[in-house]
Amino acid sequence: MKLEVERLTAEPMPFAYEEGGGWWSARMPREASLPSEVVEPFSVTGIAYRSAGSEDILLEGTITGAFELECARCLARYRHGLREPFRFVLEPAGLRTPAEPEAAKALARDGMCLADEVELGWYRGSEIQLDSVCLELISLALPVKPLCRDDCAGLCPRCGADRNEAPCECSEAAPNSPFAVLAALRGDRS
Ligand SMILES: [Zn+2]
Ligand SMILES: [Zn+2]
Repeated sequence: MKLEVERLTAEPMPFAYEEGGGWWSARMPREASLPSEVVEPFSVTGIAYRSAGSEDILLEGTITGAFELECARCLARYRHGLREPFRFVLEPAGLRTPAEPEAAKALARDGMCLADEVELGWYRGSEIQLDSVCLELISLALPVKPLCRDDCAGLCPRCGADRNEAPCECSEAAPNSPFAVLAALRGDRS
């Protein structure tokens, strides 16, 4: 996924890349708790142009793709689609070196690096490699707690039944809740 800096003008130039599971797994650290099953290739599309009257480069676009994830509540595997818009403004690095070692490494390797705010960065050289920044955007877009759907009822903590399929026989109220105590006093079996 590279952009040739010399081809960029004030006229927006469209770009489009597609990368599949091999691209993802070859680059992501295996020990990281990141998903590995890419079920829809990543598509990176957008436009690149120079801002009028300056050397700054603007990149705008969207990353889409999908993983198979495991729902944190019901443990079912489900398709998790991603759709991440991005916009970066890159100014020429010139003779400057980023203070952050990671950013300095990225500038040397990819021809671009981003500041902490992520929307601003520097570029250097004749080519900009977008792979690293796309990998980072995808990683950041992954949910901390994946859910197959917002209202997933999850598994019953007592009998383990999937409550999305049917309510189980267990009492609605937790055993220690005041409602359970009341129910027991009344002799209810709810
Ligand atoms: Zn679920
Ligand atoms: Zn149950």
